Amino acid sequence: MFAKPDGPGITVSGEMSDSEDLHGPAQLDASSSESLSRLFSPGDPEPLIVQNAGGSSSHVLVCDHAGRRIPRRLDQLGLAPADLDRHIAWDIGAGALASRLGLALDACVVRQAYSRLVVDCNRGPEHDDLIPAVSDGTVVPGNANLSAEAMQDRIAAIHTPYHAGLAAVLDARAGQDRIATVVSVHSFTPTMNGLARPWHVGVLHQQDSALSKRMLALLQAEDGLCIGDNQPYAMDGIDYTVPVHAQGRGLDYLELEVRQDLIANEAGQASMAALLARLLQA
Ligand SMILES: [Zn+2]
Repeated sequence: MFAKPDGPGITVSGEMSDSEDLHGPAQLDASSSESLSRLFSPGDPEPLIVQNAGGSSSHVLVCDHAGRRIPRRLDQLGLAPADLDRHIAWDIGAGALASRLGLALDACVVRQAYSRLVVDCNRGPEHDDLIPAVSDGTVVPGNANLSAEAMQDRIAAIHTPYHAGLAAVLDARAGQDRIATVVSVHSFTPTMNGLARPWHVGVLHQQDSALSKRMLALLQAEDGLCIGDNQPYAMDGIDYTVPVHAQGRGLDYLELEVRQDLIANEAGQASMAALLARLLQA
């Protein structure tokens, strides 16, 4: 059903599989706070993108690493354009997959517009990897020796409003007595440290999650799929979004990792979205 991983990881150039960004995020008002005005300039998008806020599904889809925008003032973080196409900058295909899944389920989708290299929104504000100086062996010059003020600007301008926006979506559901589950969508590179990763999809979970267990069993029952149970990563204390927004509220959750070569183009995204929508509605 799906191809085996090959090559040293894949890249996506241009706006392929990222086309929502052409008409998605609103432009920022950079004058609204000091951190925003230091980091952003005209033309930079809002970090928070909420699609289909009134969606009827109980699932709220979240994509922390959907985007790869860099605030213009940060001058591409000193990286070559090709590096900003790679998995170090974003979860290739994940934002487009989340959007398609949102349409299929009539679910709200909360996405983040900026690269994880600017600030990683699946890390706590105090975490060492929040703003990585090196990512998968690539030095990020624009993240070297950052001042405390520069770090705080990125947190205040991107991390804080993104998580406040997600919290507001979940608060609204709670206020309407609507059940909500948090479905976090990530993607992973097919090879890491020279090793091919055989899994098509991974389910990351910890503690008790009925939705994770159910989806793990349903995915494992599909023909031709190699499913990772806490692979290629295990959920642990490094994650931020699910522990804070789902477990912190007592909500059930599902955290998916999808191999990037399967969702690097629109056909793959459509196929994976159809599979996940079918199983999430089973
Ligand atoms: Zn991710």
